[in-house]
Amino acid sequence: MSYDVDLFVIGAGSGGVRAARFAAGFGARVAIAESRYLGGTCVNVGCVPKKLLVHGAQFSEHFAHASGYGWSMPEPSFDWPTLITHKNGEIKRLNGVYQRLLEGAGVSLLNGHAKLLDAHTVQVNEQTIRAKHILIATGGWPHIPDIPGRELAIGSNEAFYLPQLPKRVLVVGGGYIAVEFASIFHGLGADVSQIYRGDLFLRGFDQAVREHIRDAFTEKKLKLLFNTDIVAIRREDDGSLMATLADGQEVATDCVFYATGRRPMLDDLGLENTRVELNAKGFVQVDAQYVTAEPSIMAIGDVIGDAFAGKAQRLSLTPVALAEGMAVARRLFKPDEYHPVDYQNIPTAVFSLPNISTVGLSEQQAITAGHSVLIFETRFRSLPLSITQDREKTLIKLVVDADTDRVLGCHMVGAEAGEVIQGIAVALKAGATKRVFDETMGIHPTVAEEFVTLRTPRD
Ligand code: FAD
Ligand code: NDP
Repeated sequence: MSYDVDLFVIGAGSGGVRAARFAAGFGARVAIAESRYLGGTCVNVGCVPKKLLVHGAQFSEHFAHASGYGWSMPEPSFDWPTLITHKNGEIKRLNGVYQRLLEGAGVSLLNGHAKLLDAHTVQVNEQTIRAKHILIATGGWPHIPDIPGRELAIGSNEAFYLPQLPKRVLVVGGGYIAVEFASIFHGLGADVSQIYRGDLFLRGFDQAVREHIRDAFTEKKLKLLFNTDIVAIRREDDGSLMATLADGQEVATDCVFYATGRRPMLDDLGLENTRVELNAKGFVQVDAQYVTAEPSIMAIGDVIGDAFAGKAQRLSLTPVALAEGMAVARRLFKPDEYHPVDYQNIPTAVFSLPNISTVGLSEQQAITAGHSVLIFETRFRSLPLSITQDREKTLIKLVVDADTDRVLGCHMVGAEAGEVIQGIAVALKAGATKRVFDETMGIHPTVAEEFVTLRTPRD
């Protein structure tokens, strides 16, 4: 049977672009369809603009620190439209970079919504394309629970394009996005309350990290409302919003921001025309090589969720989608270079203020997995803060296997935690023991040197 292309990729986000570029580089005939924006979530409404907004939000702290160093300045003021305009300019530039990357690699780019007509046929606009392999890399979309007044709330997509910074924001959720945006809105000057349905946000992270962030947020006067939820939202006559909580309490606000997880983006994808199956959580079901129940169709990235048929839990992060895209391209078109994605010890950062970063097991996960653990933990005020009014503490924690001396997990809350943990992740991947950490020379004076100077385990 003849095909128009060897690989048709649906979705030019992190995973799709990587798979398409590598496959074309290996000599395959590749086409990619994108319905919304080149670079996908990460570039347009995710990692990149989020990091810019967090960086912007941090200036309020830096201005406050500066006086301790002898600087004086007029009262700083912040202009949200300027930040958004500059952020949009950078995204536009990146969209162009992605277009050139794809074209330079020889990938045919189709602008439009792709729909599966059968196991080998995709329709984009008026065009039908026959492909030997099809890769679904359509990502995810914010999920906002169905409560009365839901249409008055926004999700992360809208937050990046708000015309003005709201004076008061109610952030709902306790995951990555909620914690990051609570920090963004608060740092930029909004009055922020964060609502989470459980006892303590950031479920899955080490307990010490969760408590440390709770205390840091409280210290910053960010209001935390745990063990509750919004049951309804209504608009008041003056244009403001009123949220009713589960206990009947009413909270007045100007913006209700939901970050309560993401669903797979499968809208009008035509899955019903194929044998592709979904798992219990509604994400595309794949095997260890990302092949769906339809042998010619694969799926990678956020659209497969966390229910991957592997040992470690999959995370919906850009580097994971990139690795999966590369694995698909290599397996199909450069099998001698193929190796499966390693889902163990995926480092991750939450770009809250302060930052969180972590690699490996939490103390609780290590114990549940049957390890007997030694815990090394320190909290301290970093040197740059010592001559400021800022009392914020950095947390550094190591989880070590008491029997083998292997370092099982490293956790940090503090400035540039992601930058620090990236290097530590290499050590964990190499199987470093606590002794290797101890024998590593520190860099003085840094915060990161604490990772190699922790001597006494916690009781
Ligand atoms: P996406 O990047 O979502 O790309 C999917 C693409 O498919 C989209 O461009 C979409 O328009 C397109 N598409 C969908 N359906 C169709 C169709 N039928 N036809 C044609 N095109 C279609 N991860 C990190 O690692 N670090 C971070 O700091 C980080 N921050 C984040 C912040 C936010 C607010 C969000 C929402 C996510 C963040 N993530 C972060 C997660 C990261 O963005 C995702 O894991 C990553 O983008 C997933 O890549 P993907 O290729 O699976 O999908
Ligand atoms: P998460 O899955 O991280 O968190 C969702 C949060 O919403 C949880 O606290 C969850 O509570 C809560 N929640 C879920 N459903 C409801 C509901 N019906 N009512 C009230 N609360 C609810 O999702 P996010 O939306 O924050 O982010 C999506 C993913 O994007 C992340 O998991 C991550 O993979 C990725 N991401 C990565 C970033 C990074 O690398 N820095 C930044 C942003 C996103 P509970 O814990 O009780 O289930």
